Amino acid sequence: MASILSGREYAREVTGAIRKRLEGVVSGPGLAVVLVGDDPASAVYVAAKRKACRRAGIKGSVFRLPPDAGEEAVLETLVALNNDPAIHGVLCQLPLPPGIDRHRIASAVLPEKDVDGFHPVNVGRLWRGEDGLVPCTPLGMIGLLRHNHIQLEGRNAVIIGRSDIVGKPMAALLLRENCTVTLAHSKTADLPHLSKTADILVTAVGKPGMVRGNWVKPGAVVLDVGINRLENGALAGDACFAEVEAVAGAVTPVPGGIGPLTIAFLLQNTVKAWERLTS
Ligand code: NAP
Repeated sequence: MASILSGREYAREVTGAIRKRLEGVVSGPGLAVVLVGDDPASAVYVAAKRKACRRAGIKGSVFRLPPDAGEEAVLETLVALNNDPAIHGVLCQLPLPPGIDRHRIASAVLPEKDVDGFHPVNVGRLWRGEDGLVPCTPLGMIGLLRHNHIQLEGRNAVIIGRSDIVGKPMAALLLRENCTVTLAHSKTADLPHLSKTADILVTAVGKPGMVRGNWVKPGAVVLDVGINRLENGALAGDACFAEVEAVAGAVTPVPGGIGPLTIAFLLQNTVKAWERLTS
């Protein structure tokens, strides 16, 4: 039976360490979240980020724009936040309404304040192995692996899903840890066979129960990034948890796995940006 890697517990530790770091600090970090439109899921994520900021002692502010605000208005908001010395981290909540180019938006955030790690400068730094701001979900996953003393060097890692937010940056980070990395996607041939070669299996697809027990190498570490809302309202990952848990060496649950880490590492990125901008 696999051991359960609790992201929730580790996220609490990370947040607690940040709170301690900021105790007694007069001009602490400020995070600005730009929320465009009225997507209910986005509103929930933004509220969770704000709450986490409060807990950690970071000043979190939300800048709301209507769904029809248009790209120029979003860009103007970002320029103002880039120029605001009280703001050290800036992000624009995804998804954006139709007609707004997320690449243009990502490029408009000052790289030094880009706490989501989506700016091309930070993407380039990541792939070159330079220090920069790294996307929060993969950063959290590497943190969790290290925290649990999971050996990475020389191991085979398979990542299912090649998004800019999760799959691609996770590939760069695992490569940096000297894993041998395969990045799989919807056109990958014989995915069950490929998955079974993984010592570290990361699944970031958005299809509940897709990864079955017979896709998993006995003893493998499975990080399930998927967050899927089932018809009965419950949340589920991409892995068929009961089957995978019976085969894997360690697995992250959904909920309580990677999700809380994403927010904790957003706070950590904000502190990192603040330290650099104010030192
Ligand atoms: P995304 O941009 O929609 O990308 C999904 C990826 O899955 C794509 O690369 C796609 O391949 C691949 N894919 C789709 N169907 C597949 C199949 N049948 N076999 C193999 N690959 C397949 O997704 P994302 O933004 O990375 O998010 C993925 C999941 O993670 C979602 O459930 C999301 O809610 C969750 N998520 C969770 C967190 C967290 O904090 N825990 C953070 C971000 C995302 P193609 O490229 O070929 O289309």
